[in-house]
Amino acid sequence: MRLSEYFLPLLRENPSEAQIVSHRLMLRAGMIRQSSAGIYSWLPLGLRVLKNVERIVREEQDRAGAQEILMPTIQPAELWRESGRYDDYGKEMLRIRDRHDREMLYGPTNEEQITEIVRASIQSYRDLPKLLYHIQWKFRDEVRPRFGVMRGREFLMKDAYSFDLDAAGARHSYNKMFVAYLRTFARMGLKAIPMRADTGPIGGDLSHEFIILADTGESDVHVHTDFLETDWQGFDIASWEAPALQQVVDHYTAIYAATDDVHDPQTAAKYGNKIVSRRGIEVGQVFYFGDKYSRPMGAVVAGPDGESVALEMGSYGIGVSRLVGALIEANHDAAGIIWPKSVAPFRVGLINLRAADARCRTAADELYGKLRNAGVEVLYDDRDESPGAKFATMDLIGLPKQIVIGPRGLAAGTVEVKNRRSGERQDLGIDAALAHLAAPHPLPLPASGEREGPA
Ligand code: ATP
Ligand code: MG
Repeated sequence: MRLSEYFLPLLRENPSEAQIVSHRLMLRAGMIRQSSAGIYSWLPLGLRVLKNVERIVREEQDRAGAQEILMPTIQPAELWRESGRYDDYGKEMLRIRDRHDREMLYGPTNEEQITEIVRASIQSYRDLPKLLYHIQWKFRDEVRPRFGVMRGREFLMKDAYSFDLDAAGARHSYNKMFVAYLRTFARMGLKAIPMRADTGPIGGDLSHEFIILADTGESDVHVHTDFLETDWQGFDIASWEAPALQQVVDHYTAIYAATDDVHDPQTAAKYGNKIVSRRGIEVGQVFYFGDKYSRPMGAVVAGPDGESVALEMGSYGIGVSRLVGALIEANHDAAGIIWPKSVAPFRVGLINLRAADARCRTAADELYGKLRNAGVEVLYDDRDESPGAKFATMDLIGLPKQIVIGPRGLAAGTVEVKNRRSGERQDLGIDAALAHLAAPHPLPLPASGEREGPA
């Protein structure tokens, strides 16, 4: 993509409404535009990142054996009356009436909707287990929408739902999602710590939140220092069989980590000064809640002995749009964003320092064509701007690699390749630069064990 043609509405000044760095940088880098409180349009650069995050989430759901569906955003109120949550959910639910005066709502989550689908379609234990997910916009009329996409009112969520015959099966489904989450966040280069959590309005008796430590986070959390030293990027599993998964989950849940709601100072005291209190961003949560929805909604199957059994359920959310903000909170410096390569909107930024110079233009155009032919996603700054403005723009939008073409280098037959994260610069011949950068992207689905850490 040529920057001269790209829709990238950058802001020069820090927008006064943005209180945290990710919100500031998303606005400055032209990734989003606010429509009303907590509701945003995604502009080309932001949408590319959102799609990359969504792709990794989808690939890891698929790998764990979940099947993708797509449920509507608008749901009938009756379903929520069946579960008893229509009145309980309160003002966060956006309630709507259609032209026939039927009560509808914009879904804040989909437990009722999926339970209705499954109860209508599955009658026998032989059709279990089932693990279904979708990636769909949600609406919650938050009291205080703030921090940009981190606490929006409209936001994109991946939500998965598991249906099993018994508690052991449900536990296995829970463990699959737990491990899928560890893989998902590792591929994004994030350190998301699983913490014991309250079940809140979803209900149930087992839950973990996946939390990224950050001073700007809204959750108070208490974590064992062992988690601070964990190598998250190295996370992988040997097998998806039940005992192997249970072992992984046991390993991670044995280390103390809890959100404030369920923090137990007495247990924590056993670890002395190894427990630290921090702020964190919740990027995902998993719940096991048994028959909380299946029983009142009549989602039952015939068991092996013909008896009728209410389905054992769990639900598993990831904040896809919140992750874009969380990724910036975890990856930035004074000059701007530093995208991990797995989610970067483009892998390379190509800067022509002298757009007016024919020799520079020819060389830059040629390298741009070659990179594109090699399958490299590249944003080419071909504008007639000052070098300073071009460097600042590239640093702000945070592409993992920059290539700088200028008259002096060209005279010596080289271009400069800069690593945005380390700041390291290298002068390379044009062919060497091409070979250096021509790794395919978007990255293919890695075999279990491969890594996609920060650039
Ligand atoms: P929070 O405690 O932050 O309000 P929640 O616990 O109510 O979130 P869940 O029902 O667990 O949210 O939803 C699953 C995921 O969706 C969360 O882990 C979070 O990443 C994301 N999410 C929830 N609310 C919002 C929001 N208002 N804006 C953006 N993402 C959100
Ligand atoms: Mg939650």
